[in-house]
Amino acid sequence: MGLSRGAAMFDLFRRSEPTDEPPASAAAGLSADTARRELLERIADFLSRYDLIASPGNLALIASALSGSNAEVARAFAERQVAAAPIDQRWLDTLDRLNPASERHTAELEQLVEKLDDALMRFGQSARFAQSETHDHRGAIGAQVNALAACAADGAGEADTARLLCLSQAMLERLAAIEQAMQRSRLETEELRRSLAEARLEADIDHLTGLPNRRAFERRFAMAATAARQRGEPLSVAFCDVDHFKLINDRHGHEAGDRVLRIIAAGLGEQASERCFVARHGGEEFVLLLPGYDKLCALEKVDAMRRQLAARNLINRASGKPFGRITFSGGVAEVTEAEDDRSALARADAALYRAKQQGRNRIMVG
Ligand code: GH3
Ligand code: MG
Ligand code: MG
Repeated sequence: MGLSRGAAMFDLFRRSEPTDEPPASAAAGLSADTARRELLERIADFLSRYDLIASPGNLALIASALSGSNAEVARAFAERQVAAAPIDQRWLDTLDRLNPASERHTAELEQLVEKLDDALMRFGQSARFAQSETHDHRGAIGAQVNALAACAADGAGEADTARLLCLSQAMLERLAAIEQAMQRSRLETEELRRSLAEARLEADIDHLTGLPNRRAFERRFAMAATAARQRGEPLSVAFCDVDHFKLINDRHGHEAGDRVLRIIAAGLGEQASERCFVARHGGEEFVLLLPGYDKLCALEKVDAMRRQLAARNLINRASGKPFGRITFSGGVAEVTEAEDDRSALARADAALYRAKQQGRNRIMVG
């Protein structure tokens, strides 16, 4: 990175200077407005300087770095600048992936959904209990009403019996209505729980490829790491990123790019098993979780998958033109090798980065 680019970068990270203006509220409103406009300009400048797309994820990350609202992300940007390493989509994706805040967010949402499910289950149980209680009471009162009706027919204590009969009948009707409402609540609760279960399944699937998504991967990763440590077995993780995928989009169009992603996903998905969890991590990147595999066995397996794709000759059926050889690069790491499970993600990512740097279409171990 040249000096001028470094200076410009520094400018991008510069926060608004404090002014000597009096803190009148109009002036404060004006300066907040100016600061917002300045921030937007700096974000736009950043996107165009590094040729990045204005996706919601990119915008959130860049805004949090440039405004300084997320100190960790701001520090990561500054360190990247000092190291004169490239700021590109891969790096932003990596940063987002390793961002503990997004991790926490997913875990919190997960907990909320569990609580909701639990609350619905408990409500369903109490509704069922209340319904059966009401039903029993109605039976008991019904018997009383019959006895009273028999008394009234005999003409015994007429006025009192008639009043009691009236009251009891009203109570009986009320109980019948309550029982029906309970039944409705119970059915509605069951329906809600079913929808919640469906939504959770749905939320775990990537709609373009049909593979599990990053959310599903995160959950599986945590479970698999715990299980592997309990059993004393190895667990490996691998990131696979399609090489020069942008060129496929540029040459054949985004829709054809989507079809290629589906084909690659289907090929990887064929290998899915108890010992090979395959997910789309995002964009043109896939992630594998390999319980029972140490890093060398994992390397062998992922390399075989790489060779299989590289040997194929994919044709764009819309135009009849070949896509050319499509390959991916991969980075493998053994989760059980270090104490901190998540450090394996950073190691696999760094290995993938090296695979890209060393010419792509290869798998490296971290
Ligand atoms: P590299 O070998 O360094 O990974 O190069 P690359 O071109 O694959 O990587 P880069 O990160 O520069 O570009 C990735 C491209 O993937 C850019 C983005 O538009 C495209 N992409 C991401 N998700 C999708 C998708 O769902 N469908 C399509 N068609 N393209 C996607
Ligand atoms: Mg990528
Ligand atoms: Mg790529």
